[in-house]
Amino acid sequence: MQPPIPDYLADILDHVRDDDGGQSADYIPELRDADPNRLALALCTTSGHVYSAGDGDVEFTIQSISKPFIYALALQELGAEAVDEVVGLEPSGEAFNELSLDDNDNRPVNPMINAGAIAVNQLINGEDSSVDDRVEKIRDLLSRLAGRDLSIDEELCNSEILSADRNLSIAHMLRSHGIIHDEAHDAVLSYTRQCSILVTTRDLAVMSATLATGGVQPVTGERLLTSEVCRRTLAVMSSSGMYDGAGRWMAGVGIPAKSGVAGGLIGTLPGQLGIATFSPRLDSSGNSVRGVKIFERLSREMGLHLMAADHHSVPGVRSITRDGDSTVIRLQGTINFTAAENILHELGSHKLGGSELLLDVSRVTSFNRMGRRMVKEGLRRLREKGFTCAIYDPEGVVTDLEFSDGTYADTVEALT
Ligand code: GLN
Repeated sequence: MQPPIPDYLADILDHVRDDDGGQSADYIPELRDADPNRLALALCTTSGHVYSAGDGDVEFTIQSISKPFIYALALQELGAEAVDEVVGLEPSGEAFNELSLDDNDNRPVNPMINAGAIAVNQLINGEDSSVDDRVEKIRDLLSRLAGRDLSIDEELCNSEILSADRNLSIAHMLRSHGIIHDEAHDAVLSYTRQCSILVTTRDLAVMSATLATGGVQPVTGERLLTSEVCRRTLAVMSSSGMYDGAGRWMAGVGIPAKSGVAGGLIGTLPGQLGIATFSPRLDSSGNSVRGVKIFERLSREMGLHLMAADHHSVPGVRSITRDGDSTVIRLQGTINFTAAENILHELGSHKLGGSELLLDVSRVTSFNRMGRRMVKEGLRRLREKGFTCAIYDPEGVVTDLEFSDGTYADTVEALT
């Protein structure tokens, strides 16, 4: 079968292809002269299946899309507490290259604006690292995230350095407040080399999907980040990833995202998908015009808005049936707090006949910790009331059958 998804993606691109709104970045020749008509869209699922349409294999510089990943690397290397000492977590509502620090503690307000990203870059590989070793560490992580060896666009990087006055003044400001310790020039060189790494839209979709899985690169299977690090990174992307357009973005699209000045844009749906687009013309916040349009459409048509209530509605209890002396309770879906509450509510209000209870979890896709704890506690209490209780769990989704009192749930091998 020819999968229908690439055709759908190509169709989405056709809808925005003729929109020539916005302006390519023009502060260096390499970005000014890049073909503004390039257009690409790629998706990578948490199972590692990649789909792309348009110019999905054309390379461009990652720019600010590196920021969430290097923030994740710093969290992973140093822990959240040490990273919090140099950068905050609040949205700034300011332009990406604003010379701004928090009034109270002089830290950059978040890691997605340049001030925050330069401070975070300096944490990588320790305070005494050379620029080369630090950048190599960064290039190595981004390469593993992409699943291929990424290179640096040296010419573009040189041009950036020649016009880096603004980032240099940010670095001087950070150094004057003791947030960074390297020479301002070295700090900007290290950050600019980070931004000059070449990626494709396909690479970005896979990198973004690695945040969606909670840190396992879904194509190579390599664990690169912890799930706590990914969760925090996505939280910061959702509040600050689109700079001063972040609030409007979250309302309209509802996907944690990050944009870059070369025209790339990523979005990450935890547990589901990494999405990436490429189109160089930018709006006044520095976000890709057609990229934003594509995301708006995908969010609407594919039902991806994270604040939408519709994907959380499967009740935990599928059925309760009586069979001779036993009552069979069939569960289904993902058992989180709300599903478990539904199960306990049903168990409490249903008149349970017979003396035997069988809990069939063969249709449960997963339990979270709270769901598991609540369901087991419900069973334990029913057992205390005199019922014989057993679990039918052919796939082992419950994983841990110990009750809160140290006893264990009985299991059955088959449903009779
Ligand atoms: N290299 C660019 C800068 O620091 C990256 C900014 C961006 O992508 N928004 O100015």
